[in-house]
Amino acid sequence: MVLPGSIDECLAVLSKRGGDAKLVAGGTDLLPQMKNGAIKPTLVVDLSGIARIRQIQIGQGLRIGAAVTARELEVSAATRGAYLSIAESGALVGSLQVRNLATIGGNLCNAAPSADMAPPLLALETQAVIAGPKGERRVPIADFFTGVRQTVLQPNELLVELVTPPPGAHSGGQYLRHTPRRELDIAVVGVASQLTLEGGRCVKARIALASVAPTPVRAVAAERALEGQAVTPELIEQAAALAIDAARPIDDQRGSVEFRKHLVRILTRRTLTTALQRASA
Ligand SMILES: Cc1cc2nc3c(=O)[nH]c(=O)nc-3n(C[C@H](O)[C@H](O)[C@H](O)COP(=O)(O)OP(=O)(O)OC[C@H]3O[C@@H](n4cnc5c(N)ncnc54)[C@H](O)[C@@H]3O)c2cc1C
Repeated sequence: MVLPGSIDECLAVLSKRGGDAKLVAGGTDLLPQMKNGAIKPTLVVDLSGIARIRQIQIGQGLRIGAAVTARELEVSAATRGAYLSIAESGALVGSLQVRNLATIGGNLCNAAPSADMAPPLLALETQAVIAGPKGERRVPIADFFTGVRQTVLQPNELLVELVTPPPGAHSGGQYLRHTPRRELDIAVVGVASQLTLEGGRCVKARIALASVAPTPVRAVAAERALEGQAVTPELIEQAAALAIDAARPIDDQRGSVEFRKHLVRILTRRTLTTALQRASA
């Protein structure tokens, strides 16, 4: 195990050992995978000594360090204002003990289709800042995931922070998920919606779904149905039905394809209704 004190130190380790090293933040995904033998890194690189990736900053938008925990997102004044859906997604992760360890970077880099922290970031058009041997690059979170447990990150790179633009004055969002159990369960479906209003009409709609495809996805047809319109309960119902088109769920013991599609409709309706109330407040 090594404990780099800066991003540069971490990159130096990765440039030598990137292929067989694994970064660890909270360890809530990595340690179970190491315990069950799914992965066998020969070196573990602990990110907890890198101050820059542990900060939340609010100014021209929101910057969340990759090692910020779910609990910090849940309680931070920075997220509980204009970025409430991010706080809501942090609040739903695991138990309090898990949330005190689980980081946003770990959640995204583990890239489970059910990752709760991804949909709000998609709906808020967040960019991932990635550090590598050639400096830093920015990737829209919509392009960050490439498959189940796969991302654009190279073995010699690390996720540094998530940068979210200000959503605007009359904007509101919500994240909801369905789980069979209240706690310590993963999303059968998760939905984040974000609406921005101007003069009584919707000027921007973003809807992101989790657990219905190999990666989190935007429900683009539903977004288009809302944009340019006065948002009524009937229009929300229409958009919720359209959101189903973006879902490509699988059948498994946690939910059938039909059940998951049904949940997409229900959760899209609910999150859009709350997003409208919050944007109008
Ligand atoms: C009991 C339990 C309940 C859970 N409940 C939920 C839940 O409700 N919702 C949910 O979404 N998840 C849940 N999880 C999964 C997990 O807690 C989250 O995905 C968590 O956010 C992972 O963060 P971490 O810091 O622990 O990641 P780690 O385990 O430290 O790392 C995960 C992966 O990301 C990589 N990584 C970490 N940080 C970086 C970085 N900065 N740059 C590049 N790679 C990096 C690691 O190498 C590793 O491959 C649960 C897990 C447990 C054990």
